[in-house]
Amino acid sequence: MSTTTSLYFHFPFCTRKCNYCAFYSVPWASEAQKDAYLDALKTQALSFGETRPVPSVYFGGGTPTNFGVSRLTDLLCFVREHFSLTPDVEITLEANPADVSPADLQTLRNAGFNRLSIGMQSSDDALLKSLGRRHTFADTRATVEAAREAGFQNLSLDLLFALPGQTLPGLETSVRDALSLCPEHISAYSLQLEEGTAFYQTRETLSFPTEDEEEAQYDALCSLLANAGYRHYEISSFAKEGFRSRHNLRYWDRGDYLGIGAAAHSFWNGKRFSNVPDLKAYLASPLTANDYKKAERIDETEAWEETVMLGLRTDEGIPASLVSSEHISRLVSLGLLAQKGDHVALTERGWRVSNAVIGQLLL
Ligand code: SF4
Repeated sequence: MSTTTSLYFHFPFCTRKCNYCAFYSVPWASEAQKDAYLDALKTQALSFGETRPVPSVYFGGGTPTNFGVSRLTDLLCFVREHFSLTPDVEITLEANPADVSPADLQTLRNAGFNRLSIGMQSSDDALLKSLGRRHTFADTRATVEAAREAGFQNLSLDLLFALPGQTLPGLETSVRDALSLCPEHISAYSLQLEEGTAFYQTRETLSFPTEDEEEAQYDALCSLLANAGYRHYEISSFAKEGFRSRHNLRYWDRGDYLGIGAAAHSFWNGKRFSNVPDLKAYLASPLTANDYKKAERIDETEAWEETVMLGLRTDEGIPASLVSSEHISRLVSLGLLAQKGDHVALTERGWRVSNAVIGQLLL
């Protein structure tokens, strides 16, 4: 069991649904509903009786920035009062560039948020529009400038690639534009076509990059970021020295975290469990919203599988003793795995086919 626990607060609310998004999210009904949600989050957070030190707090969504700055700062004050935050705690807020003003950012920084994760996605305004995003690249630039002005020294930008209609030069331009904003951290995900999304319904009319084109975009992105001094430390994550996401590393290291809010997931005291993805049910009963009691403790085989799958997402890898030496030798000779002392980790090439490599190591 971890000696610390991280906290994740989930805000499954979006003004409108992006065309590619399959996450549970709903529009806010009213200001009163936001107040009720704030109360429910506090009630649930206290219910666990957690007393271990907290090295990271993450407000994610959905769109936490349309919850209202005063409620966000109120919740952070509550967290400080009731949990034991470590002196170097990382406190991240996901920010939609369409939602936050310079004054908001100053208030948030003063309240103690010390990391912003900004949903840039692309610098191509036509692509942003086709994704259903509410912001432009100029909004992202303005948010970054205002965040620096407010004193944020740890900014992350989210990028998407393999978008319908996106070309390799277009992706390269987006990455260069992101780099021009000098973020400490960049996360980059390929767009997945998910059932239930607007893109899924109109998929016949969209021109998605082929697998080869997607791979070429990922290669270009990785090399542009490597050349700019970012360490590729997880399949989708790149950071300047000292700016790896401490909160996200907990997920890959299988550290304990509590997910608070409708549809949030937790890994806590050996169990994985989640809250009901239903706002009304969550508001009606935040104390019984999770299935902790019903959840089975992770057994040894599952723990081993998780350790291999999650550990190999990162450049730290896993202890070599966890997997067969025969598999290791073969994958090392293919250039997909690298030995690092008593650990093995996927190479850049290995990350490109990570599902297949991990599948073999789990045999
Ligand atoms: S991608 Fe993010 S902002 Fe867009 S609908 Fe999904 S959760 Fe909301």
